[in-house]
Amino acid sequence: MSEKLVYYFGNGEAEGSGDQRDLLGGKGANLAEMSRIGLPVPPGFTITTRACVAYLQNPVITDELREQVAAALSRVEQVMGKKYADPDDPLLFSCRSGARISMPGMMDTVLNIGLNDETVQGLIARSGSERFGYDCYRRLVQMYGNVVMGVDGEHFENAIDDLKAKRGVKTDAELTADDLKELIETFKGIVAEQAGQPFPTDPHEQLWGGIEAVFRSWNTERAVTYRRINRLPDDMGTAVNVQTMVFGNMGERSATGVAFTRDPSTGENVFYGEFLVNAQGEDVVAGIRTPQALNREGRDRLPDGNPSKNLPTLEEVMPEAYAELERIRHVLEEHYHNMQDIEFTIQDGKLWMLQTRNGKRTGRAAVRIAVEMFGEGLMTREQALLSVEPDHLDQLLHDQVDPAAQVSMLARGLPASPGAAQGEIVLSAEDAVAAAQAGRKVLLVRRETSPEDIDGMHHAEGILTARGGMTSHAAVVARGMGKPCVAGCGDLVVDYTAGTVTVGDRVLKAGDPLTIDGTQGLVIDGLVPLISPSLDDPNLRQVMAWADEVRTLGVRTNADTPHDAAQAREFGAAGIGLCRTEHMFFGDERISKMREMILAEDEAGRRKALAKILPLQQADFEGIFTAMDGFPVTVRLLDPPLHEFLPAPDMTAEIDALAEELGVTREHLLQRIESLHEMNPMLGHRGCRLGLTYPEIYETQVEAIIRAALAVQARGVDVHPEIMIPLVGTVRELAVLREKTEATARRVMAEVGAEVAYKVGTMIEIPRAALLADQIARVADFFSFGTNDLTQMTFGYSRDDAGVFLPDYVKNGILPADPFQQLDQEGVGQLVAMAARKGREANPDLHLGICGEHGGDPSSIDFCHRTGLDYVSCSPFRVPIARLAAAHAAIRNG
Ligand code: PEP
Ligand code: MG
Repeated sequence: MSEKLVYYFGNGEAEGSGDQRDLLGGKGANLAEMSRIGLPVPPGFTITTRACVAYLQNPVITDELREQVAAALSRVEQVMGKKYADPDDPLLFSCRSGARISMPGMMDTVLNIGLNDETVQGLIARSGSERFGYDCYRRLVQMYGNVVMGVDGEHFENAIDDLKAKRGVKTDAELTADDLKELIETFKGIVAEQAGQPFPTDPHEQLWGGIEAVFRSWNTERAVTYRRINRLPDDMGTAVNVQTMVFGNMGERSATGVAFTRDPSTGENVFYGEFLVNAQGEDVVAGIRTPQALNREGRDRLPDGNPSKNLPTLEEVMPEAYAELERIRHVLEEHYHNMQDIEFTIQDGKLWMLQTRNGKRTGRAAVRIAVEMFGEGLMTREQALLSVEPDHLDQLLHDQVDPAAQVSMLARGLPASPGAAQGEIVLSAEDAVAAAQAGRKVLLVRRETSPEDIDGMHHAEGILTARGGMTSHAAVVARGMGKPCVAGCGDLVVDYTAGTVTVGDRVLKAGDPLTIDGTQGLVIDGLVPLISPSLDDPNLRQVMAWADEVRTLGVRTNADTPHDAAQAREFGAAGIGLCRTEHMFFGDERISKMREMILAEDEAGRRKALAKILPLQQADFEGIFTAMDGFPVTVRLLDPPLHEFLPAPDMTAEIDALAEELGVTREHLLQRIESLHEMNPMLGHRGCRLGLTYPEIYETQVEAIIRAALAVQARGVDVHPEIMIPLVGTVRELAVLREKTEATARRVMAEVGAEVAYKVGTMIEIPRAALLADQIARVADFFSFGTNDLTQMTFGYSRDDAGVFLPDYVKNGILPADPFQQLDQEGVGQLVAMAARKGREANPDLHLGICGEHGGDPSSIDFCHRTGLDYVSCSPFRVPIARLAAAHAAIRNG
């Protein structure tokens, strides 16, 4: 049987459904679903992502596809009672992309397919408007010429400008039917000249041209960049939606718009949207005309001075269509159990739904919507949790302008994406990338943004635009990226040629400092103090409480100071999974004692220096144990090679000072530093190898840990120390060090005359340790997967040097992601899973955690859940994200 490549939808029926996103793309699946639930969807059909993938491998249209398209097309003709290419009453189509995961504005669309010199007459006759017919036709030639035939859009724009100048008019709307007719001929000339081929007049050729162009648009540079930034796979392909055209530009009883079923910025339960009378869809998002508010409520909320503030709403100009839209808003939320982002068109008073999808929202809106939709019975607790993404929490942790700061406000725009950002002004995406790569912080200021600006937006701290609404490209993309954005700041005059941004009589130049507040929509002169956010939003608390109820993975933190420990605890960390003791030795006063220890000639000398270090370490541990009262604290014994604590041989001033302090000659010191030099210190004398060759170092650290635990326990703190031996590769290493640790602990407890319970475990960060995890587990109370080193050693990529080639690897698709950020589940993950299984088989009480950077990465957390680890450990600011990601993992994997 041949594969089904084309799925019909429309008229209350659909061959596909909402759960076929992989095959039909997000848009196609939703069109099918909307059609199924009886919403007014213009009939059409979706060509599958599989057909696209096949086409990209071998760019020919197969007979199979051709036949299925023909069959679906005739079904649409039947339902519509119109014929494609009929000169008297032509059916017209739009042709749009739609991948499994939405990539806003990244791929191509062609509208009004099916028009030519004959069929346009039919359209004119049916619509009763010559101007309308010719306008549709000139849009087709323009879009088709650009998207399908590759003609630079500027040629067409210039031709329009020339004609307007010739006619002495300012706007497109002032061009007459005859002008447009003339323009069509000019456009055809442009196509023929630039593309070397005439604009195709055969409607069937047009349709296939459109379909193939959408297939190909999967691989345009901007689509590829978007996927790279958003870490989306390149092999999904896009579906193609071919759909009956409905016209929002058929006169004053027609309109087109976009809406969110709730406010995407605050999450408030108000119907929020924008529309334009007598316009086509792209006019709204392009930000060229000023959109109007959907309803009075939305208009009242606009800031003073916003140009939409004085325009009538849809509720006022088309009350019936608005009432229908408002009804559909509720149907959609009840059906999808989520806030929806919709596109609609009103043709001659009749409402048509073009698209619905889960709406992108700010972090603040996400938690509010989750809590309120749960309260309204529209979401279950699990749906509510899944509707909040880890990135939303990232946003809630964003900077804000200090309310106490004296600021000089330059202008006000729309609060398009929350958080404050500051930096020097750049006026182009390329400048943003270059400056950011040179380490400078920049704000990207544009009249409006387009998909070509995506890389620049990614590199900027924030985005400011002069035009466009809350649904403009800048607003949608910035929100998705979690970057602060102020959009539609009409008082701004951006002059790219002069390199200036003018507000009233203030002229700013590229390079000048600027601050934006995307939460309130403010543009502020210069750099002003920012404050870090807090977590006291009650909706956030509710979501986090749900996450804690649902998740089974524990969440700890990586923290080396009492301050970080307390911070992480506030964020919800239940203990420390990694306290790197070496960080305690870098302070000015401490480093000299450490150096004295390292440079000592013999054990006696080392012990003398260590005796000075012991009370300092003990005090640190007391602070950390107290901050983590009631929770486990995993303290890792010294890990890095010793030379990391010494000055480099060429730091002459430091060498001289150190020599003097230690009472040795400079030459002697240099010799000693030289003797500690290693060709490859990462694989050298570090971790447990140090502990075995210089046992007194670990002995001192264990003594400090046990003394601190006893001291705080005496003060009533519930302390659970876990002593962790790093870089173990053979069971003997751990067995010997465990014995020594226990001997020291026994001695100290006897001296103090008190007991404290503690555990001894190891990191699994060397592949050999993972392979022999069963042996190691017999002498360990716990394993903590050190996936930074484990990734380094499994791939053979140096953690320090891989930055040279890894970005290229990811860019060129050799690796799907940087394995130091996202755990390589296929490879390194096998070692983790195997070690977990073998370890538990040998020691059923073995406790398992992860403390590499992956412990804060959502996809890696999902893996840890599936692998049955007990906890993840990550940096303090990632803790809320890890809690949420752990809840998601529990829900998704059951
Ligand atoms: C690791 O290797 O994953 C780890 C947590 O230790 P470090 O990063 O300190 O080597
Ligand atoms: Mg390590």
